[in-house]
Amino acid sequence: MSNFMRVPPIKDPYDYIDNHPWDLAQRPFRIAPHVWYVSGNSYVGCYLLDTGDGLILIDTFEIRALYLLTEAIRDAGYSPKDIKMILLSHGHQDHCGGLRALQEMTRAKVYMSHEDYVVKQEHPDRVLFHYAPDFEPDVFFNDEKPITLGRFTIKTKLCPGHTPGTTSFFFDDVDEDGTVYRCGMHGGAGTPFLMTKFLVEYGYPLSYKQRFIDDCREMAKWDIDICLTSHHNMTNLLSGVNPEDPTDFSAFVDKNVWHDFMLERAADAENMV
Ligand SMILES: [Zn+2]
Repeated sequence: MSNFMRVPPIKDPYDYIDNHPWDLAQRPFRIAPHVWYVSGNSYVGCYLLDTGDGLILIDTFEIRALYLLTEAIRDAGYSPKDIKMILLSHGHQDHCGGLRALQEMTRAKVYMSHEDYVVKQEHPDRVLFHYAPDFEPDVFFNDEKPITLGRFTIKTKLCPGHTPGTTSFFFDDVDEDGTVYRCGMHGGAGTPFLMTKFLVEYGYPLSYKQRFIDDCREMAKWDIDICLTSHHNMTNLLSGVNPEDPTDFSAFVDKNVWHDFMLERAADAENMV
């Protein structure tokens, strides 16, 4: 198993974000025919989908270094003002901290899980570990109702564990030749919050751990060509970037990555005590 190597996460990311975000700078690159990695940084993965009828942004990074994201969108050839929808994978501020500013800038329709909205409202200290302006979403995800804009139809799957409302995304992207690339993103694959001490402290069901494991094992069976990760280190995503050509996504097309990543996450969760 594992044709990818998990690399260590960045130590003390808030020091980078507050004091020297430029040291995290990452040029945008294409990861699927109409999908770009646009977080502008090498810590959090945010993705821009060019639907042909406006843009969809998955996750928003942190408010204090938001310029990295907006500049990356422009660098990829798009305007942040064309974002029509913003989808949040989960309520941690490294994924939603930039949301309010982007909402003001774009008036985009904002989707998140009802579960994480409730946590954010009632116990913000469980999801906001760093400053993030408050926001209101427009729509809550419904796994029975895919989200459609232009060429994309995005299916969601509630995957509790990392947070109660962590949401994974699945969609097809079709290139000019008609080749279909099935894309998948686990909304929050980090396992430390599955430790019993956190689950007890937060009052979450201990069954979250087994649910996370079961979800990963089920999703491992799904046929996914391109694995998008919410933190690049989880699959060493940046190693697939072609420095000569940021539009070359060929290195990201590998069914084994998703499969192995899901099983590795399930195994990692099993080791959490
Ligand atoms: Zn998180």
